[in-house]
Amino acid sequence: TKPIHVIGGGLAGCEAAWQLAQADIPVVLHEMRPHRRSPAHQTDGLSELVCSNSLRSDDADYNAVGLLHEEMRRAGSLILSQADTHKVPAGGALAVDREGFSAGVEAALAAHPLVSLVREEVTGVPPEDWGQTIIATGPLTSAAMAEGLGGLTGEESLAFFDAIAPIVTKDSIDFSQAWFQSRYDKGTGSDYINCPLSKDQYYAFIDALIEGDKVEFHDWEKDTPYFEGCLPIEVMASRGRDTLAFGPMKPVGLTNPNGPKPFAVVQLRQDNALGTLYNLVGFQTKLRHGEQARIFRAIPGLESAEFARLGGLHRNTFVNGPRVLDGFLRLKAQPRLRLAGQITGCEGYVESAAIGLLAGLFAAAETLGQPLPPPPQTTALGALLAHVTGGAEAETYQPMNINFGLFPPPPERDDKGRRIKGRDRKKLYAERAREALPGWLDIIQR
Ligand code: FAD
Repeated sequence: TKPIHVIGGGLAGCEAAWQLAQADIPVVLHEMRPHRRSPAHQTDGLSELVCSNSLRSDDADYNAVGLLHEEMRRAGSLILSQADTHKVPAGGALAVDREGFSAGVEAALAAHPLVSLVREEVTGVPPEDWGQTIIATGPLTSAAMAEGLGGLTGEESLAFFDAIAPIVTKDSIDFSQAWFQSRYDKGTGSDYINCPLSKDQYYAFIDALIEGDKVEFHDWEKDTPYFEGCLPIEVMASRGRDTLAFGPMKPVGLTNPNGPKPFAVVQLRQDNALGTLYNLVGFQTKLRHGEQARIFRAIPGLESAEFARLGGLHRNTFVNGPRVLDGFLRLKAQPRLRLAGQITGCEGYVESAAIGLLAGLFAAAETLGQPLPPPPQTTALGALLAHVTGGAEAETYQPMNINFGLFPPPPERDDKGRRIKGRDRKKLYAERAREALPGWLDIIQR
Protein backbone atom coordinates (compact mmCIF):
# COMPACT_ATOMS: atom_id res chain seq x y z
CA THR A 1 0.00 0.00 0.00
CA LYS A 2 1.12 3.55 -0.76
CA PRO A 3 2.15 5.35 2.47
CA ILE A 4 0.17 8.25 3.90
CA HIS A 5 2.26 11.27 4.80
CA VAL A 6 1.67 13.00 8.12
CA ILE A 7 3.28 16.40 8.59
CA GLY A 8 4.11 17.41 12.18
CA GLY A 9 5.20 15.08 14.98
CA GLY A 10 3.21 16.79 17.73
CA LEU A 11 0.23 15.52 19.68
CA ALA A 12 -2.05 15.29 16.65
CA GLY A 13 0.47 14.03 14.09
CA CYS A 14 1.76 11.24 16.34
CA GLU A 15 -1.77 10.10 17.17
CA ALA A 16 -2.82 10.16 13.49
CA ALA A 17 0.31 8.22 12.46
CA TRP A 18 -0.39 5.60 15.13
CA GLN A 19 -4.01 5.12 14.06
CA LEU A 20 -2.93 4.66 10.44
CA ALA A 21 -0.18 2.19 11.29
CA GLN A 22 -2.54 0.22 13.54
CA ALA A 23 -4.88 -0.03 10.55
CA ASP A 24 -1.99 -1.64 8.59
CA ILE A 25 -1.29 1.43 6.49
CA PRO A 26 2.34 2.59 6.08
CA VAL A 27 3.03 6.12 7.29
CA VAL A 28 5.77 8.66 6.70
CA LEU A 29 5.84 11.12 9.59
CA HIS A 30 7.64 14.41 8.87
CA GLU A 31 8.90 16.48 11.80
CA MET A 32 10.92 19.66 11.25
CA ARG A 33 12.74 19.60 14.59
CA PRO A 34 15.70 19.61 15.26
CA HIS A 35 16.52 21.37 11.97
CA ARG A 36 13.93 24.03 12.62
CA ARG A 37 12.32 24.79 15.97
CA SER A 38 9.14 26.64 16.77
CA PRO A 39 9.60 29.49 19.26
CA ALA A 40 7.94 27.41 22.01
CA HIS A 41 9.36 23.90 21.56
CA GLN A 42 12.49 23.21 23.64
CA THR A 43 13.40 19.62 22.67
CA ASP A 44 13.72 17.36 19.64
CA GLY A 45 11.22 14.84 21.03
CA LEU A 46 7.93 13.96 19.38
CA SER A 47 4.73 15.09 21.13
CA GLU A 48 6.51 17.66 23.26
CA LEU A 49 4.20 19.36 25.77
CA VAL A 50 5.23 22.99 25.30
CA CYS A 51 3.84 24.32 28.56
CA SER A 52 1.90 22.63 31.36
CA ASN A 53 2.45 18.89 31.93
CA SER A 54 -1.27 18.38 32.59
CA LEU A 55 -3.84 16.83 30.28
CA ARG A 56 -6.44 18.34 32.65
CA SER A 57 -9.27 16.62 34.50
CA ASP A 58 -9.52 12.85 34.28
CA ASP A 59 -13.05 12.84 35.69
CA ALA A 60 -15.11 11.15 32.98
CA ASP A 61 -18.43 11.49 34.82
CA TYR A 62 -18.56 15.22 35.35
CA ASN A 63 -15.98 16.82 33.10
CA ALA A 64 -15.99 16.99 29.29
CA VAL A 65 -12.21 16.63 28.93
CA GLY A 66 -12.25 13.63 31.28
CA LEU A 67 -14.96 12.11 29.11
CA LEU A 68 -12.81 12.76 26.03
CA HIS A 69 -9.91 10.91 27.75
CA GLU A 70 -12.18 7.93 28.35
CA GLU A 71 -13.38 7.83 24.73
CA MET A 72 -9.84 8.15 23.38
CA ARG A 73 -8.65 5.28 25.59
CA ARG A 74 -11.49 3.15 24.27
CA ALA A 75 -10.62 4.07 20.69
CA GLY A 76 -6.98 2.94 21.18
CA SER A 77 -5.25 6.31 21.53
CA LEU A 78 -1.44 6.27 21.68
CA ILE A 79 -1.33 9.66 23.44
CA LEU A 80 -3.66 8.51 26.22
CA SER A 81 -1.92 5.17 26.70
CA GLN A 82 1.47 6.91 27.01
CA ALA A 83 -0.03 9.54 29.32
CA ASP A 84 -1.37 6.75 31.55
CA THR A 85 2.03 5.02 31.53
CA HIS A 86 3.89 8.22 32.46
CA LYS A 87 1.33 9.63 34.86
CA VAL A 88 2.48 11.64 37.91
CA PRO A 89 0.31 12.35 40.99
CA ALA A 90 -1.99 15.33 40.32
CA GLY A 91 -5.24 14.80 42.23
CA GLY A 92 -8.09 14.36 39.79
CA ALA A 93 -6.02 15.54 36.82
CA LEU A 94 -4.04 13.46 34.34
CA ALA A 95 -0.55 14.96 34.51
CA VAL A 96 2.55 13.33 33.05
CA ASP A 97 6.31 13.21 33.30
CA ARG A 98 6.81 15.24 30.12
CA GLU A 99 10.13 13.67 29.11
CA GLY A 100 8.99 10.12 29.74
CA PHE A 101 5.74 10.81 27.89
CA SER A 102 7.44 12.28 24.83
CA ALA A 103 10.07 9.49 24.77
CA GLY A 104 7.32 6.87 25.16
CA VAL A 105 5.34 8.23 22.20
CA GLU A 106 8.48 8.38 20.08
CA ALA A 107 9.58 4.85 21.06
CA ALA A 108 6.15 3.38 20.25
CA LEU A 109 6.19 4.94 16.78
CA ALA A 110 9.85 4.04 16.16
CA ALA A 111 9.11 0.42 17.08
CA HIS A 112 6.15 0.22 14.70
CA PRO A 113 7.23 -1.52 11.48
CA LEU A 114 4.89 0.63 9.36
CA VAL A 115 6.07 4.05 10.57
CA SER A 116 9.05 5.91 9.09
CA LEU A 117 10.10 9.16 10.72
CA VAL A 118 11.71 11.81 8.54
CA ARG A 119 13.27 14.82 10.22
CA GLU A 120 12.57 17.60 7.73
CA GLU A 121 10.42 20.67 7.26
CA VAL A 122 7.73 20.40 4.62
CA THR A 123 7.84 23.83 3.05
CA GLY A 124 4.51 24.35 1.40
CA VAL A 125 1.57 22.49 -0.09
CA PRO A 126 2.60 18.80 -0.08
CA PRO A 127 3.37 17.44 -3.58
CA GLU A 128 0.48 15.94 -5.56
CA ASP A 129 2.16 12.55 -5.79
CA TRP A 130 2.02 12.11 -2.02
CA GLY A 131 -1.73 11.69 -2.41
CA GLN A 132 -3.65 11.61 0.88
CA THR A 133 -1.76 13.69 3.43
CA ILE A 134 -2.47 14.84 6.98
CA ILE A 135 -1.22 18.29 7.97
CA ALA A 136 -0.77 18.55 11.74
CA THR A 137 1.75 21.34 12.06
CA GLY A 138 0.17 22.94 15.11
CA PRO A 139 -0.33 26.43 16.53
CA LEU A 140 3.23 27.41 15.55
CA THR A 141 3.22 26.00 12.01
CA SER A 142 6.38 26.99 10.15
CA ALA A 143 6.09 30.09 7.99
CA ALA A 144 6.56 28.23 4.69
CA MET A 145 3.75 25.78 5.47
CA ALA A 146 1.47 28.58 6.68
CA GLU A 147 2.00 30.38 3.41
CA GLY A 148 1.12 27.23 1.44
CA LEU A 149 -2.02 26.70 3.51
CA GLY A 150 -3.03 30.34 3.18
CA GLY A 151 -2.91 29.88 -0.59
CA LEU A 152 -5.39 27.02 -0.32
CA THR A 153 -7.77 28.46 2.24
CA GLY A 154 -7.61 32.13 1.28
CA GLU A 155 -5.85 34.52 3.65
CA GLU A 156 -9.03 35.51 5.42
CA SER A 157 -9.53 31.90 6.56
CA LEU A 158 -6.08 31.51 8.14
CA ALA A 159 -5.34 33.33 11.40
CA PHE A 160 -1.97 33.91 13.12
CA PHE A 161 -3.40 35.13 16.40
CA ASP A 162 -6.45 34.04 18.27
CA ALA A 163 -8.50 36.88 19.71
CA ILE A 164 -10.65 35.06 22.14
CA ALA A 165 -13.66 36.63 23.78
CA PRO A 166 -15.15 34.75 26.72
CA ILE A 167 -18.06 32.42 26.00
CA VAL A 168 -20.83 31.61 28.44
CA THR A 169 -23.48 28.92 28.39
CA LYS A 170 -26.92 30.36 27.64
CA ASP A 171 -28.37 28.32 30.52
CA SER A 172 -26.32 30.27 33.04
CA ILE A 173 -27.52 33.78 31.98
CA ASP A 174 -30.08 35.51 34.21
CA PHE A 175 -32.93 36.59 31.92
CA SER A 176 -34.69 38.57 34.64
CA GLN A 177 -31.99 41.18 33.83
CA ALA A 178 -30.69 40.28 30.35
CA TRP A 179 -32.87 40.36 27.25
CA PHE A 180 -32.80 39.35 23.58
CA GLN A 181 -32.69 42.24 21.07
CA SER A 182 -30.56 43.41 18.12
CA ARG A 183 -29.69 47.08 17.79
CA TYR A 184 -32.56 48.80 15.97
CA ASP A 185 -34.17 45.33 15.84
CA LYS A 186 -32.03 44.38 12.83
CA GLY A 187 -31.66 40.76 11.67
CA THR A 188 -34.29 38.63 13.36
CA GLY A 189 -34.66 41.47 15.88
CA SER A 190 -33.36 39.28 18.66
CA ASP A 191 -29.95 38.08 17.53
CA TYR A 192 -28.14 39.38 20.64
CA ILE A 193 -28.43 38.98 24.37
CA ASN A 194 -27.98 42.32 26.16
CA CYS A 195 -26.83 42.92 29.73
CA PRO A 196 -27.57 46.45 31.06
CA LEU A 197 -25.15 48.60 33.08
CA SER A 198 -25.99 51.80 34.94
CA LYS A 199 -23.49 54.68 34.87
CA ASP A 200 -21.97 53.66 38.22
CA GLN A 201 -21.76 50.03 37.19
CA TYR A 202 -20.11 51.00 33.89
CA TYR A 203 -17.35 53.10 35.48
CA ALA A 204 -16.72 50.48 38.16
CA PHE A 205 -16.38 47.95 35.35
CA ILE A 206 -13.89 50.17 33.45
CA ASP A 207 -11.79 50.60 36.62
CA ALA A 208 -11.80 46.83 37.16
CA LEU A 209 -10.66 46.22 33.56
CA ILE A 210 -7.79 48.70 33.86
CA GLU A 211 -6.69 47.55 37.31
CA GLY A 212 -7.14 43.79 36.64
CA ASP A 213 -4.09 41.54 36.55
CA LYS A 214 -3.00 40.75 32.96
CA VAL A 215 -0.89 38.11 31.25
CA GLU A 216 2.14 39.44 29.34
CA PHE A 217 2.87 38.55 25.72
CA HIS A 218 5.90 36.28 25.18
CA ASP A 219 8.84 38.07 23.54
CA TRP A 220 8.39 36.01 20.36
CA GLU A 221 4.71 36.92 20.19
CA LYS A 222 5.49 40.62 20.15
CA ASP A 223 6.97 40.32 16.65
CA THR A 224 3.67 39.18 15.17
CA PRO A 225 1.49 42.24 14.90
CA TYR A 226 -2.04 42.02 16.18
CA PHE A 227 -4.43 44.25 14.47
CA GLU A 228 -6.44 47.20 15.70
CA GLY A 229 -9.60 45.23 14.93
CA CYS A 230 -9.02 42.88 17.84
CA LEU A 231 -7.49 45.02 20.55
CA PRO A 232 -7.88 43.62 24.04
CA ILE A 233 -10.87 45.18 25.79
CA GLU A 234 -8.67 46.51 28.63
CA VAL A 235 -6.44 48.30 26.09
CA MET A 236 -9.52 49.99 24.65
CA ALA A 237 -10.68 50.89 28.17
CA SER A 238 -7.29 52.44 28.96
CA ARG A 239 -7.59 54.75 25.94
CA GLY A 240 -10.35 56.71 27.68
CA ARG A 241 -13.01 55.94 30.28
CA ASP A 242 -15.80 56.50 27.75
CA THR A 243 -14.22 54.68 24.79
CA LEU A 244 -16.20 51.49 25.34
CA ALA A 245 -19.45 53.35 26.04
CA PHE A 246 -19.11 54.82 22.53
CA GLY A 247 -17.77 51.54 21.09
CA PRO A 248 -18.85 47.93 21.64
CA MET A 249 -20.81 48.84 24.79
CA LYS A 250 -22.89 51.66 23.32
CA PRO A 251 -26.56 51.27 24.27
CA VAL A 252 -28.01 52.80 21.09
CA GLY A 253 -30.91 51.13 19.31
CA LEU A 254 -31.85 49.09 22.37
CA THR A 255 -34.67 49.21 24.87
CA ASN A 256 -34.65 47.46 28.23
CA PRO A 257 -37.84 45.51 28.93
CA ASN A 258 -36.60 44.69 32.44
CA GLY A 259 -35.77 48.16 33.78
CA PRO A 260 -34.48 51.69 33.06
CA LYS A 261 -32.61 52.58 29.87
CA PRO A 262 -29.02 51.41 30.41
CA PHE A 263 -25.97 53.70 30.31
CA ALA A 264 -24.01 50.91 28.56
CA VAL A 265 -24.61 47.31 27.52
CA VAL A 266 -22.62 44.14 27.12
CA GLN A 267 -23.81 42.26 24.06
CA LEU A 268 -23.56 38.50 23.61
CA ARG A 269 -23.84 36.78 20.24
CA GLN A 270 -24.74 33.18 19.48
CA ASP A 271 -21.57 31.13 19.04
CA ASN A 272 -22.70 27.70 17.85
CA ALA A 273 -25.47 26.26 15.72
CA LEU A 274 -26.97 24.52 18.75
CA GLY A 275 -27.57 27.93 20.37
CA THR A 276 -26.12 26.74 23.68
CA LEU A 277 -23.14 29.13 23.71
CA TYR A 278 -22.89 32.93 23.52
CA ASN A 279 -19.72 35.06 23.22
CA LEU A 280 -19.21 38.49 24.78
CA VAL A 281 -18.88 40.65 21.68
CA GLY A 282 -15.55 42.54 21.49
CA PHE A 283 -14.29 41.22 24.82
CA GLN A 284 -11.01 39.59 23.74
CA THR A 285 -8.66 40.09 26.66
CA LYS A 286 -5.28 39.37 28.24
CA LEU A 287 -6.75 39.53 31.78
CA ARG A 288 -5.84 36.50 33.87
CA HIS A 289 -8.53 33.83 33.95
CA GLY A 290 -9.41 34.31 37.63
CA GLU A 291 -9.74 38.05 37.05
CA GLN A 292 -11.99 37.53 34.04
CA ALA A 293 -14.40 35.36 36.02
CA ARG A 294 -14.50 37.95 38.83
CA ILE A 295 -14.85 41.04 36.61
CA PHE A 296 -17.30 39.61 34.06
CA ARG A 297 -19.53 38.11 36.76
CA ALA A 298 -20.04 41.66 38.04
CA ILE A 299 -22.03 42.37 34.82
CA PRO A 300 -25.78 42.35 35.55
CA GLY A 301 -27.21 39.07 34.21
CA LEU A 302 -23.87 37.27 34.29
CA GLU A 303 -23.57 36.87 38.09
CA SER A 304 -23.82 33.08 37.77
CA ALA A 305 -22.26 32.83 34.32
CA GLU A 306 -20.67 29.52 33.50
CA PHE A 307 -17.73 30.13 31.18
CA ALA A 308 -17.31 27.59 28.38
CA ARG A 309 -14.16 29.49 27.49
CA LEU A 310 -12.33 32.45 28.99
CA GLY A 311 -10.74 35.12 26.84
CA GLY A 312 -7.19 35.32 25.55
CA LEU A 313 -4.87 36.51 22.82
CA HIS A 314 -1.94 34.35 21.66
CA ARG A 315 0.13 33.46 18.64
CA ASN A 316 -1.84 30.62 17.10
CA THR A 317 -2.01 29.54 13.48
CA PHE A 318 -5.39 28.03 12.70
CA VAL A 319 -7.84 27.80 9.84
CA ASN A 320 -11.51 28.71 9.91
CA GLY A 321 -12.60 25.08 10.30
CA PRO A 322 -16.33 25.50 9.68
CA ARG A 323 -15.57 27.39 6.47
CA VAL A 324 -12.72 25.39 4.94
CA LEU A 325 -13.07 21.81 6.24
CA ASP A 326 -15.60 19.14 5.35
CA GLY A 327 -17.11 16.87 7.99
CA PHE A 328 -14.16 14.47 7.70
CA LEU A 329 -11.46 17.12 8.26
CA ARG A 330 -10.56 17.36 4.54
CA LEU A 331 -9.82 20.73 2.99
CA LYS A 332 -12.76 21.52 0.73
CA ALA A 333 -10.30 23.20 -1.66
CA GLN A 334 -8.18 20.05 -1.93
CA PRO A 335 -9.77 16.98 -0.34
CA ARG A 336 -6.59 14.89 -0.54
CA LEU A 337 -5.30 17.10 2.29
CA ARG A 338 -6.69 16.54 5.75
CA LEU A 339 -5.98 18.82 8.72
CA ALA A 340 -5.51 17.63 12.29
CA GLY A 341 -4.75 19.12 15.68
CA GLN A 342 -4.80 22.69 16.83
CA ILE A 343 -4.53 24.03 13.30
CA THR A 344 -8.22 23.07 12.85
CA GLY A 345 -9.11 25.51 15.63
CA CYS A 346 -9.54 23.14 18.51
CA GLU A 347 -7.51 24.11 21.58
CA GLY A 348 -5.35 22.06 23.91
CA TYR A 349 -3.21 18.95 24.05
CA VAL A 350 -6.07 16.48 24.46
CA GLU A 351 -8.34 18.04 21.88
CA SER A 352 -5.49 18.22 19.35
CA ALA A 353 -4.69 14.55 19.90
CA ALA A 354 -8.41 13.69 19.62
CA ILE A 355 -8.68 15.42 16.25
CA GLY A 356 -5.45 13.64 15.23
CA LEU A 357 -7.04 10.33 16.17
CA LEU A 358 -10.11 11.07 14.06
CA ALA A 359 -8.01 12.28 11.11
CA GLY A 360 -5.99 9.06 11.23
CA LEU A 361 -9.11 6.91 11.37
CA PHE A 362 -10.82 8.79 8.54
CA ALA A 363 -7.72 8.59 6.33
CA ALA A 364 -7.39 4.87 7.05
CA ALA A 365 -11.07 4.25 6.27
CA GLU A 366 -10.77 6.17 3.01
CA THR A 367 -7.67 4.21 1.96
CA LEU A 368 -9.24 0.87 2.84
CA GLY A 369 -12.53 1.79 1.15
CA GLN A 370 -14.44 1.16 4.39
CA PRO A 371 -16.66 4.17 5.05
CA LEU A 372 -16.49 5.53 8.59
CA PRO A 373 -19.24 7.89 9.74
CA PRO A 374 -18.35 10.69 12.19
CA PRO A 375 -18.75 9.70 15.85
CA PRO A 376 -22.23 10.52 17.23
CA GLN A 377 -22.51 14.17 18.23
CA THR A 378 -23.56 13.18 21.74
CA THR A 379 -20.05 11.76 22.34
CA ALA A 380 -17.12 14.01 23.24
CA LEU A 381 -15.26 13.00 20.08
CA GLY A 382 -18.34 13.73 17.98
CA ALA A 383 -19.14 17.05 19.69
CA LEU A 384 -15.58 18.31 19.17
CA LEU A 385 -15.44 17.20 15.55
CA ALA A 386 -18.83 18.74 14.76
CA HIS A 387 -17.71 22.01 16.32
CA VAL A 388 -14.54 22.39 14.25
CA THR A 389 -16.12 21.22 11.01
CA GLY A 390 -19.34 23.17 10.97
CA GLY A 391 -21.10 23.54 14.32
CA ALA A 392 -19.28 26.74 15.29
CA GLU A 393 -20.24 30.07 13.74
CA ALA A 394 -17.70 30.72 10.95
CA GLU A 395 -17.97 34.51 11.45
CA THR A 396 -16.66 34.43 15.01
CA TYR A 397 -14.65 31.19 14.85
CA GLN A 398 -11.94 31.06 17.53
CA PRO A 399 -10.13 28.16 19.19
CA MET A 400 -12.02 26.29 21.87
CA ASN A 401 -11.46 23.50 24.39
CA ILE A 402 -13.96 20.66 24.68
CA ASN A 403 -16.86 21.54 27.02
CA PHE A 404 -20.43 20.37 27.50
CA GLY A 405 -21.71 23.46 25.68
CA LEU A 406 -20.54 21.81 22.43
CA PHE A 407 -22.88 18.85 22.95
CA PRO A 408 -26.55 18.85 21.94
CA PRO A 409 -28.36 19.75 25.16
CA PRO A 410 -29.98 16.84 27.03
CA PRO A 411 -33.59 17.21 28.27
CA GLU A 412 -33.94 20.00 30.83
CA ARG A 413 -36.33 18.03 33.02
CA ASP A 414 -36.60 14.45 34.24
CA ASP A 415 -39.71 12.19 33.80
CA LYS A 416 -41.24 13.79 36.92
CA GLY A 417 -40.87 17.29 35.46
CA ARG A 418 -38.03 18.29 37.81
CA ARG A 419 -35.25 20.50 36.43
CA ILE A 420 -31.98 18.61 36.02
CA LYS A 421 -29.19 20.90 37.21
CA GLY A 422 -25.50 21.06 38.12
CA ARG A 423 -23.70 17.76 38.58
CA ASP A 424 -26.78 15.71 37.68
CA ARG A 425 -26.90 17.40 34.30
CA LYS A 426 -23.19 16.80 33.66
CA LYS A 427 -23.64 13.13 34.54
CA LEU A 428 -26.43 13.00 31.97
CA TYR A 429 -24.06 14.15 29.21
CA ALA A 430 -21.57 11.44 30.20
CA GLU A 431 -24.20 8.70 30.36
CA ARG A 432 -25.62 9.66 26.99
CA ALA A 433 -22.12 9.63 25.45
CA ARG A 434 -21.44 6.17 26.88
CA GLU A 435 -24.60 4.83 25.32
CA ALA A 436 -23.74 6.27 21.91
CA LEU A 437 -20.04 5.42 21.62
CA PRO A 438 -20.00 1.58 21.41
CA GLY A 439 -21.88 1.42 18.10
CA TRP A 440 -19.27 3.66 16.52
CA LEU A 441 -16.35 1.83 18.17
CA ASP A 442 -17.70 -1.39 16.66
CA ILE A 443 -17.19 0.10 13.20
CA ILE A 444 -13.60 1.18 13.82
CA GLN A 445 -12.70 -2.08 15.54
CA ARG A 446 -14.13 -4.34 12.83
P1 FAD B 1 2.09 20.62 18.09
O1 FAD B 1 2.07 19.75 19.29
O2 FAD B 1 2.68 21.98 18.19
O3 FAD B 1 2.84 19.80 16.95
C1 FAD B 1 3.11 20.36 15.69
C2 FAD B 1 4.44 19.78 15.22
O4 FAD B 1 4.63 20.13 13.85
C3 FAD B 1 5.61 20.35 15.98
O5 FAD B 1 6.40 19.28 16.45
C4 FAD B 1 6.36 21.21 14.95
O6 FAD B 1 7.75 21.20 15.15
C5 FAD B 1 5.98 20.52 13.66
N1 FAD B 1 5.98 21.37 12.44
C6 FAD B 1 5.50 22.63 12.29
N2 FAD B 1 5.60 23.02 11.01
C7 FAD B 1 6.18 21.99 10.32
C8 FAD B 1 6.53 21.78 8.95
N3 FAD B 1 6.32 22.71 8.03
N4 FAD B 1 7.11 20.59 8.58
C9 FAD B 1 7.34 19.62 9.52
N5 FAD B 1 7.01 19.78 10.83
C10 FAD B 1 6.43 20.94 11.23
N6 FAD B 1 -2.31 23.21 25.50
C11 FAD B 1 -2.66 22.65 26.69
O7 FAD B 1 -3.52 21.75 26.73
N7 FAD B 1 -2.09 23.07 27.83
C12 FAD B 1 -1.13 24.04 27.85
O8 FAD B 1 -0.62 24.37 28.90
C13 FAD B 1 -0.76 24.64 26.61
N8 FAD B 1 0.17 25.63 26.57
C14 FAD B 1 0.57 26.14 25.37
C15 FAD B 1 1.58 27.11 25.33
C16 FAD B 1 2.02 27.63 24.12
C17 FAD B 1 3.11 28.66 24.11
C18 FAD B 1 1.41 27.20 22.93
C19 FAD B 1 1.87 27.74 21.60
C20 FAD B 1 0.39 26.26 22.97
C21 FAD B 1 -0.04 25.73 24.18
N9 FAD B 1 -1.04 24.78 24.25
C22 FAD B 1 -1.39 24.20 25.44
C23 FAD B 1 -1.69 24.33 23.10
C24 FAD B 1 -0.90 23.09 22.67
O9 FAD B 1 0.38 23.39 22.27
C25 FAD B 1 -1.45 22.52 21.52
O10 FAD B 1 -2.79 22.35 21.77
C26 FAD B 1 -0.90 21.17 21.11
O11 FAD B 1 0.47 20.98 21.29
C27 FAD B 1 -1.24 21.14 19.68
O12 FAD B 1 -0.97 19.90 19.16
P2 FAD B 1 -0.64 19.84 17.63
O13 FAD B 1 -0.24 18.43 17.37
O14 FAD B 1 -1.73 20.41 16.84
O15 FAD B 1 0.62 20.79 17.46
